[in-house]
Amino acid sequence: MASSAAVDGVAKQLFIGGQWRDATDGKTLVVDNPATGQELAKVADASPADGMAALTAAADAQKEWARTDPRERGELLRKAFELITQRADLFAELMTLEMGKPLAEARGEVTYGGEFFRWFSEEAVRISGRYSVAPSGGTRLLTMKQPVGPVVMITPWNFPLAMGTRKIGPAIAAGCTMVVKPAAETPLTMLALAQLLEEVGLPGGVLNVITTSSSGQVMEPIIRDPRTRKLTFTGSTAVGRKLIEQSAQQVLRVSMELGGNAPFIVFDDADIDAAVEGAMLAKMRNIGEACTAANRLYVHASVADEFASKMATKMGGLVVADGMDPKSQVGPLINQKAIDKVEALVKDAVDRGAQVVTGGSTTGEAGFFYEPTVITDLPADADMVREEIFGPVAAIQTFTDEDDVIAKANDTEYGLASYFFTRDFSRAIRVAEALEYGMVGVNQGIISNPAAPFGGVKASGFGREGGFEGIDEYLEDKYVGIKL
Ligand code: NAP
Repeated sequence: MASSAAVDGVAKQLFIGGQWRDATDGKTLVVDNPATGQELAKVADASPADGMAALTAAADAQKEWARTDPRERGELLRKAFELITQRADLFAELMTLEMGKPLAEARGEVTYGGEFFRWFSEEAVRISGRYSVAPSGGTRLLTMKQPVGPVVMITPWNFPLAMGTRKIGPAIAAGCTMVVKPAAETPLTMLALAQLLEEVGLPGGVLNVITTSSSGQVMEPIIRDPRTRKLTFTGSTAVGRKLIEQSAQQVLRVSMELGGNAPFIVFDDADIDAAVEGAMLAKMRNIGEACTAANRLYVHASVADEFASKMATKMGGLVVADGMDPKSQVGPLINQKAIDKVEALVKDAVDRGAQVVTGGSTTGEAGFFYEPTVITDLPADADMVREEIFGPVAAIQTFTDEDDVIAKANDTEYGLASYFFTRDFSRAIRVAEALEYGMVGVNQGIISNPAAPFGGVKASGFGREGGFEGIDEYLEDKYVGIKL
């Protein structure tokens, strides 16, 4: 096991009711480094009983936490934001080691993830209601916002810090307690975040973190427990569907940030160099392992050759290496399963007649590396047109007609992120209105922003994270009718 001061400094236990403790049966789970395939650390492997203990701690702390002053909650988040910023290198190293993304990108995630704490530290003091006179006079209508109650949070491995702070920030600001379960592949970043929140003085029981190799068995009883008042999940649509069913029993408030199948459209009037830059960001951020990743590139036939050749040059020039190597621009995929999926999708595309312009195979002696790949002539019936690729593969299709490309872009069960490039202002508005997606990037390849409402429609889920909307997910509206 290679040693790292960042990893050594992380508490490897469960964080329940303000105490660090082992799993009740003493079990641990192994965390691997995807760049080497070697073991990085062992952390506690929670049992269903540990999960229940975490919920009990959250439920017991809820009343008192809801009574704290908004300013106090905001200041805690502000301090946590400052400490995350001070410790950017440490968080970046943890994420690179457990998830694989290059250090420079991991630092970018620290900035992005930390910003949710700063944003919601400012929102904590702006929670407000309404007062009005009933239209028929007499009665006064008062609405107030109150914390939903204990929240169960489940986060994925691809953004180990930001997917946590995007939920924990607004929950703290709103006055909710919580049980957080990070993905088994990447628990270290969340445990380090819990240590940091403990250090800034978050009271015991407000945040509880459980790590487990049996997420289904541990989480289902918590989700079905009447003390849980909300479930917020970021992950795949398949798991999201299961969790929605489980939530139905308690009629839980639910937020679902699920999978995507983002179209990236380049019109003939686009600035092609800017579109290539945008496509590189939309495709290659996080090694292509992002829910917002450009999954289907639709390029106007008149500019398709130029676009594909420029994209292939850039993709072919990227440095693929262990994310800890400062030169690395593309790290490993998360595990062998991810490699198998990308290989199968590329094979299917090629079998159906697509051309590989650059890349197209695994690389490296150890770890889970896949070459940055550009594919052209992708047939519309290829599997990767319907499924999330979640890897460094840019697949290009061509079009000639605006209505036709919008119809193709919308022809998916998903509706998270979408992108298009044009210099025609009317077209920009027209296409933005027509795309059936929660988020649209116009002339840019990155749209995530803590000040904007992030979220999807259709099978990409419901609820919004970030922006003014993000805190409402953790608040209930109560109406009080007052007869004068
Ligand atoms: P996943 O397999 O759905 O897992 C997500 C989380 O759910 C992990 O913590 C996982 O834990 C847990 N989980 C799995 N099965 C569960 C069950 N039966 N009960 C309770 N929890 C369960 O997704 P992933 O592979 O980690 O993440 C990639 C997916 O997330 C992609 O589809 C991507 O598009 C989506 N995503 C969406 C957004 C968004 O904001 N919309 C952001 C990022 C990622 P274990 O892995 O430890 O079992």
